[in-house]
Amino acid sequence: MVVGNRAGVGYFTNMTAADVSDRLAVNLRAVENRIRAACERAGRDRAGVTLVAVTKSVGPEIAALLPAMGVSDLGESRPQVLWAKAPALPRSVRWHLIGHLQRNKIDRTLPLVELVHSVDSERLIDALQAEAAKTDGRVRVLLEVNVSGEASKGGFSPGSLQQLTDRDRMDIAGLMTMAPLIEPEQCRAVFASLRHLRDQLQHRWGRSLPELSMGMSNDFDVAIEEGATLVRVGSLLFEGLPRTNRA
Ligand SMILES: *Cc1c(COP(=O)(O)O)cnc(C)c1O
Repeated sequence: MVVGNRAGVGYFTNMTAADVSDRLAVNLRAVENRIRAACERAGRDRAGVTLVAVTKSVGPEIAALLPAMGVSDLGESRPQVLWAKAPALPRSVRWHLIGHLQRNKIDRTLPLVELVHSVDSERLIDALQAEAAKTDGRVRVLLEVNVSGEASKGGFSPGSLQQLTDRDRMDIAGLMTMAPLIEPEQCRAVFASLRHLRDQLQHRWGRSLPELSMGMSNDFDVAIEEGATLVRVGSLLFEGLPRTNRA
């Protein structure tokens, strides 16, 4: 099977198309079982958690197998890769941008995405608000929060989040965070903090902020126990499958 077509270069794997599909189905079943188990432990309804399959490590041919397997929420971290992949996949896919959005890429990205998880500065909020006004539309986003305070991570600090005000053209639906790559159990405090910050913001803004995007391959079970409504899972889902070079 030929997979991947980055920069016009296809590459080969000795897996057949059926092997690829079987392996993906097995991986997905394992992830799904863990989502269900975590929901059960937390006394939550499975329907309250959306699996966002992060397809950045695989080509469109593999990503395109997901909707038929019941996964139509797909995530990409780079706007340019999303622009390239979206037209190659069924229109029923709901795209999530989970990485940094540069302001000069807003106009091309917004029409393609259901939700931007990674709104990480007030300047970006202002630019999104301006674009929404120009098109007389609305923009659905999450605010990315750097809960753990790692210097390498973007996002609002918990303190700067307190200064933010709600915006009329933006549907700020909730918060997103990335936990450090440490033992899942140690991420629990990060996820609980994000939930508390959300609760405070809801109180201050006097409206509901229903979404919490937290949890990746390493820690999504714990994130669900702490209230995640969107989990972003990549590597676990595509384990054993041919990858594009870009992580
Ligand atoms: C890559 C990425 C993920 C998925 O991470 P995995 O460990 O591969 O599951 C989730 N969220 C963001 C923001 C990412 O960049």
